[in-house]
Amino acid sequence: MDKKTAIITGGGSGIGFACLEKFISHNYRVIIIDYRIEGIKEKLSSAGISKEDVDIHQANVADFNELESVFTSIHGVGATVLINCAGISPSTNALHEYDVDEWKRCVDINLNGSFYASKLFAQQFLANKLESASVINISSIMGKRGTPGHAVYSATKHAVIGLTKSMAQDYATLNLRVNAIGPGVIETPMTSDWMQDDGFKNYFLTKIPMQRAGKAAEIANTAYFLCSEEASYLTGAYIPVDGGFLAV
Ligand code: NAD
Repeated sequence: MDKKTAIITGGGSGIGFACLEKFISHNYRVIIIDYRIEGIKEKLSSAGISKEDVDIHQANVADFNELESVFTSIHGVGATVLINCAGISPSTNALHEYDVDEWKRCVDINLNGSFYASKLFAQQFLANKLESASVINISSIMGKRGTPGHAVYSATKHAVIGLTKSMAQDYATLNLRVNAIGPGVIETPMTSDWMQDDGFKNYFLTKIPMQRAGKAAEIANTAYFLCSEEASYLTGAYIPVDGGFLAV
């Protein structure tokens, strides 16, 4: 059977890498777009993934020209999945202490990067006259809540849900479905330092009904479902995968 292709920004680590493993296990090839690519080949090899199944591109999602070059080079592939996973969570500051450049950098990566990749993906979807495709935007529980000290992260993750809802309507009749996932606290390199902190661990026990952090694979499972035919009538949705956090 011919392999389908998924593009994953931020595919070199954490949730993005778990998505890569999930899609590869379901007969996809994966194109990684990440600005940190050192060590990815070794990770693929220890996960038992053939390098023939993965194409690695080093690019900054906040730079439209860099992303456009990558998309131009993969134009003929006819990718049917885009997962916008590249993201950063800047250190916490009360709003009056925010560095303006740090704010802009987070908006550029978490929001503009998702827009740029989605725009280029939609252009290729139309040019290649594909019958269906899926975009997944990785938002956060912070796309539905505010948190002290995290204004820019929360603002970008709210915005990604708006991007999802509008883009879903732009392409609904063409079977290009667009959905957002809201991970709760997930064990990845992004959260590894926090996980050492007793106060943070206590947070699971008090705020998360399932009383544990999530696994990156649990986000990847949801992403795979949303891109599959099983989710053929699902578009414009925000799906929390958070151990019940938003249910409280
Ligand atoms: P991670 O740090 O393990 O992975 C992020 C990946 O994105 C890295 O490979 C990094 O190199 C890449 N990246 C960052 N900026 C980039 C840029 N400008 N251009 C290209 N690549 C870039 O983190 P993660 O926890 O796997 O996070 C993945 C996504 O999930 C992020 O959008 C994050 O906001 C979101 N998220 C994570 C959690 C969590 O608890 N881990 C919770 C909610 C949402």
